[in-house]
Amino acid sequence: MSTKVDSYDDIRALQLEKLQSGTEELLASNRFYKPRMHDVSSWNDFYDLPFLTKAELVEDQKENAPFGTNLTYPLGDYVRLHQTSGSSGGRPLRWLDTARSWVWWTGIWANHVYKGAGITSEDRIFFAFSFGPFVGFWSAYAGAERLGAMVIPGGSMSSEQRVLAIRDLEPTVLCSTPTYALRLAEVAKEMGIDLSESSIKKTLHAGEPGASIPATKKAIETAFGAQCYDHTGMTEVGPTGFTCSAGDGVHFVESEFILEVIPVGTDADPKRTRSEGTGELVITNLGRFCSPLIRYRTGDLVELSREPCSCGSPFAKAVGGIRGRVDDMFTVRGINLYPSQVEEVLRRYSEIVNFQIRHQKVRHMDEVSLMIETRDGDDSIVESVVLDLRHSFGVRIDCQCVPAGSLPANEMKAKRVVHVQG
Ligand SMILES: [Zn+2]
Repeated sequence: MSTKVDSYDDIRALQLEKLQSGTEELLASNRFYKPRMHDVSSWNDFYDLPFLTKAELVEDQKENAPFGTNLTYPLGDYVRLHQTSGSSGGRPLRWLDTARSWVWWTGIWANHVYKGAGITSEDRIFFAFSFGPFVGFWSAYAGAERLGAMVIPGGSMSSEQRVLAIRDLEPTVLCSTPTYALRLAEVAKEMGIDLSESSIKKTLHAGEPGASIPATKKAIETAFGAQCYDHTGMTEVGPTGFTCSAGDGVHFVESEFILEVIPVGTDADPKRTRSEGTGELVITNLGRFCSPLIRYRTGDLVELSREPCSCGSPFAKAVGGIRGRVDDMFTVRGINLYPSQVEEVLRRYSEIVNFQIRHQKVRHMDEVSLMIETRDGDDSIVESVVLDLRHSFGVRIDCQCVPAGSLPANEMKAKRVVHVQG
C-alpha cells in the first residue's frame, strides 16, 4: 500500500502525519527515545529534536546488551535480527524488526527499488549474497518474492558455482555489490564463460557507491551486457533509495524517510538543516517505529537535488548516488578526496580488477598510496594511472601493483580506505 504523493508539499504533509502517529507510540513505551523525544505537532517541534549518532546506539547496546533499549514493543513482537557488517571497525550494531516493519522494508523494494529499475514479476533474480546476519540482500529477496518474481538464492556458493548457476538457471537480474559483480565477471572469464552473453539484463547493487560512479557502472554494464542500477540502504535505517530511468543518481523514498543535509566537518545546528545541497545526510525513518531512528547522522556524503527528474518522481535525488563516507575523506597535499573520486579514474582501466587506498599519518602529514590489482598482475599501466590521477586532482598519488587476488573482493562491502597506524 503506498500513498500517492505528487509534490514536495504532499510529501511534507505525509511525513508529518506519519511522524506524529509514530511519536505517540514511542513516547508511550520506548526507553531509548523517552528522554530524547517530545510531541511533534509541527515542523518546528521536529527541528527542536537532537541529532542521533551511531556512537549513541553502540553505547546503548553495550550498556543494555544484547539489543539495547530502542525497542518500542515487547521482545516477543520482534521476528528478525540483523546486524551491521562492522566494516568500519568496532562492534556490529544489532537491529530488530517486527513482522510489520519487515513488510515496510519489502514494500519499499517492491514498490520503489524494483519498480525504478523496471524489474517485474516476469523477472528471475539471482542473489550473489551470503545470507548471513548482515541485512544486505535479505530484504531484496523478500521484496522480490512480494513482487512475484522468481528468486534464486546464491548463498554458500563459490564464485565458480555462481557463474554456473547463472549459465544454467538463466536469471534476468543479478543482485550483488558492484565489486563482487566485477569479480564474478572475472571468474567467468577465467572459466571461458562470457557473462555479457548471459541471460542477465539488469544488475542491481548495494553496499558500495560503485553503481552510481559512471566508470564503474559502465564497467559492470559492459561485463554483463546489462543495465546497472544502484540501491542505498543501511541496516539501522532501512532501504532508502533507488535508481530511476534517468540513471544519474539515487532518489530517496521521501514518503518513508525525512531527509536533511548538514555541513561536513562542523558542529551542525539541529535547528538549521537544509533539504537540499551537499553535505552529510541525516535521516528519519517513518515506517519502522518498532526500532526507529529520528534525525540520524548517517555519515554518508550526498549532493541532494530537488530539480525535477525526467522520470517524474517527486522525490529528491542524490546526484551521483552516495559519494562516500564522510569519515573516508583523505587529504593529499591539501586536496580533500573521497574514494569514489579515485574509483571514477581507476574504473576507466579495464585491466584493474580491484583497488585499495592506504592512508597513513607520518609526522602529522597524510601519506596516501594506492594498491591496484590488475588482471594477470600486469603492472605496465601504473605510470599512466599515476598521470591520470594527477590530471584529475592536481596531485601525485603513489600507486603500486599487487598480485591478483590479494585485495579483499568482499560480497558484503569493499573497504576502500585502510588507515594504517603510523
Ligand atoms: Zn528520476
